[in-house]
Amino acid sequence: MNQQAVEDYLKTIFLLEQIESPVSTSRIAEARQVQPASVTNMVKRLYDRDLVYYRKHYGVTLTDEGRVIALEMLRHHRLIELYLTQELGFGWDEVHEEADALEHVISGKFAERIAALLDHPRFDPHGQPIPTKDGTLSRVVCQPLTQLAEGDGGVVSCVADDTDSELLSYLAQLGLVPGVDIRVTKVEPFDGPISAQVANELIVIGNKAAATVYIKKN
Ligand SMILES: [Zn+2]
Repeated sequence: MNQQAVEDYLKTIFLLEQIESPVSTSRIAEARQVQPASVTNMVKRLYDRDLVYYRKHYGVTLTDEGRVIALEMLRHHRLIELYLTQELGFGWDEVHEEADALEHVISGKFAERIAALLDHPRFDPHGQPIPTKDGTLSRVVCQPLTQLAEGDGGVVSCVADDTDSELLSYLAQLGLVPGVDIRVTKVEPFDGPISAQVANELIVIGNKAAATVYIKKN
């Protein structure tokens, strides 16, 4: 069994567990953009290696061993993204795929050198928390911009980093980056666009893009 595929599945299951646990195989299939049958196949192999618990019609959860690997991949991924943007001049819209590939091949020692160089950062360039070396992931309480009502304000906490790079560069153009203040001024009915004050600019953003921006409400 391909080790990279194993690590990718464990990471996907971990991220889906943060939203709802246990995780159904159909949600995994959707996230990985593969057929449900191949997910079932893979999950059975992960189960045989004690990396997940799985029962039909119940779903999948990670074992402690599975979670350790998922968190290690997530730590590598987010450290690499920050390293690429801060030290190698990559844009935040260019790093996700690089990190997806590199996370599997760097050693733990390599990751620790990056962490030390960057002074043990807590967040990646998209505002996502970086798991600590001992596998602790801080929880950030936030909600998608689409869930804010007129008059609600807060701070941009993070953006979904697995969206396409064109969307990420679009969000950067609008100034929607972690740490910036935002206040919703108008929400059009029938799924219409959202108008918001971002720093000192008034922006208008469609629902699809707004759903990838997470806000920590005031
Ligand atoms: Zn990423």
